[in-house]
Amino acid sequence: MSKNINQIIVAIDGHSSCGKSTVAKEIAAKFNLTYIDTGAMYRAVTYYALQNGIIQEGFIDTDKLAASIDDIHIQLKRDSLSGNVVTYLNGENVESAIRSLEVSNHVSAISALSFVRKRLVQLQQEMGQQGGVVLDGRDIGTVVFPNAELKIFMTASPEIRAKRRFDEMTQKGEQVDFESVLQNVISRDHIDSTRAESPLRKADDAQVLDNSHLTREDQLQWVMDRLIEGGWLNNR
Ligand code: C5P
Repeated sequence: MSKNINQIIVAIDGHSSCGKSTVAKEIAAKFNLTYIDTGAMYRAVTYYALQNGIIQEGFIDTDKLAASIDDIHIQLKRDSLSGNVVTYLNGENVESAIRSLEVSNHVSAISALSFVRKRLVQLQQEMGQQGGVVLDGRDIGTVVFPNAELKIFMTASPEIRAKRRFDEMTQKGEQVDFESVLQNVISRDHIDSTRAESPLRKADDAQVLDNSHLTREDQLQWVMDRLIEGGWLNNR
């Protein structure tokens, strides 16, 4: 008999800014699962590095970061009022700070470091091992949980992804131009897919969701169909 949805691991990987977190949050909220935003964890390490002079003029002091890695404590906590998951770095709410373009511009270089990945992958495995979780990232179905019950690989064209990220940032009042956002999306895709350590790639058994021309409702329905197909919604 297949497992219940609250016992399974849903792994969502894919390119930057293609709406992985939107899908992950919706599924988590609908079925009362825990949402683990692994990108937020790499962003928190990057923010720490920026705040502590470990990244200066684009140069990363990897020795200093390696020496500080045990001092970086990341927690993902659910805000009881809004229900949103909020990222904490050493007890401080950094949810908004980690979404800046400055962090976005350095995060791929930080996430390419093997000691950073080793540390965060271990934390993600501890957080998700009980099941009843939805994780989004780049290496969830390939490295973090290769035995995840449902693996989804999401993508959309770079222009559509940049437009979505641009709209999101300008709505928050951030001063950005579209071309910089597009360049960031393209450059992150390149670094994420070509790095030596856990490059972004589709797991062989992942199902592809290209949402370039799908509405939010369509893509949620697509995931629901996969959950029904897997038999995880039947025995609730
Ligand atoms: O998902 P998000 O865009 O917030 O992730 C930020 C960056 O963190 C990605 O561009 C990627 O470099 C890195 N990342 C990663 N592995 C993950 C999640 C994110 O390398 N599992």
